[in-house]
Amino acid sequence: MPRKLPTLLASVVLAVAGWASLADAAAPEVNLYSYRQPFLINPILEAFTKATGIKVNVVYAKEGVLEKLKAEGKNSPADAVLTVDIGRLHELEEAGMLQPVRSETLKKNIPAHLRDADGLWFGLTTRARIAVVSKARVKPGELKTYADLADPKFRGRVCVRSGKHSYNVALIASIIAHEGEAKAEQWLNGLRANLARKPQGNDRAQAKAIYEGVCDVAIINTYYMGKMQTEKKEVEQHKWADAVKVVFLNQDGRGNHVNVSGAAITKTAKNRDNAVRLLEFLSDDAAQRMYASDNLEYPVKDGVAVDPVVKSWGAFKADTIDLEKIAALRSKASQLVDRIRFDQGPGS
Ligand code: FE
Repeated sequence: MPRKLPTLLASVVLAVAGWASLADAAAPEVNLYSYRQPFLINPILEAFTKATGIKVNVVYAKEGVLEKLKAEGKNSPADAVLTVDIGRLHELEEAGMLQPVRSETLKKNIPAHLRDADGLWFGLTTRARIAVVSKARVKPGELKTYADLADPKFRGRVCVRSGKHSYNVALIASIIAHEGEAKAEQWLNGLRANLARKPQGNDRAQAKAIYEGVCDVAIINTYYMGKMQTEKKEVEQHKWADAVKVVFLNQDGRGNHVNVSGAAITKTAKNRDNAVRLLEFLSDDAAQRMYASDNLEYPVKDGVAVDPVVKSWGAFKADTIDLEKIAALRSKASQLVDRIRFDQGPGS
């Protein structure tokens, strides 16, 4: 009888090999909905396909991924979603569009405060919401904290995009989380009173306004500073960047607020294992390095170097509050922006 064992084993091995080649014939793939732009994502996805043989099909979207997933229901082809901002990830979670993932690799590569405790979403890069200040008109040390942005010494000197933009909503949510709603309201009123003009434009437009002398201080995401510094087409932006200095806020306190870009796996994923492998790949050294250099963001994985341009601003202390807490306070933050009519601008 023992003699039969090798034969039996051999046939099992053959069968498994047979399945594997059948699966190959079907070409392993993963379907992705991405809010992130092709220029950034394509090289990383190509590296993934090269490393794993798994083909990635991407649908790029500026808006409406949640609505698309809802409309498609269980027939949705999407296995995973790539997005920026904790708000978008939280939205998908709240709508019940995601499924939990347990992965030692993701756990090891991504700090706990930058991923969902139940494995529903994962932060892949961070970006700090900093101040940039006029080199000419703001003295060193004049602005050090988020509280300073609301201090009367900056009356008429601050620029920022709409308070309803997800980047600002998350920042305000972080202030509610740390200081409570009453203090956050006081702060936002102070900030509105300090505005040089109605909130408008994108983050880069705020640095441009400093260059033009409209304001002295602006709130922007770090990678926009890097993009202005390294802009190839619209070289005018180099002047905007040259006019300002990066200030990381609350460095003697809780640290500078950070947000994430991230990924999640859909509830209806049909290529779930491939999607998990993709997320793991995105959290690992090679992809983390590409994120750091191609989009000038901060890698989440410990030990991966930032781009030299990013490094030139110096190291900073990041607020390590759990992003889930910020996500949970987003609607409160958004209501606060409406209630005090922040977007009406100063003197309203
Ligand atoms: Fe952005």
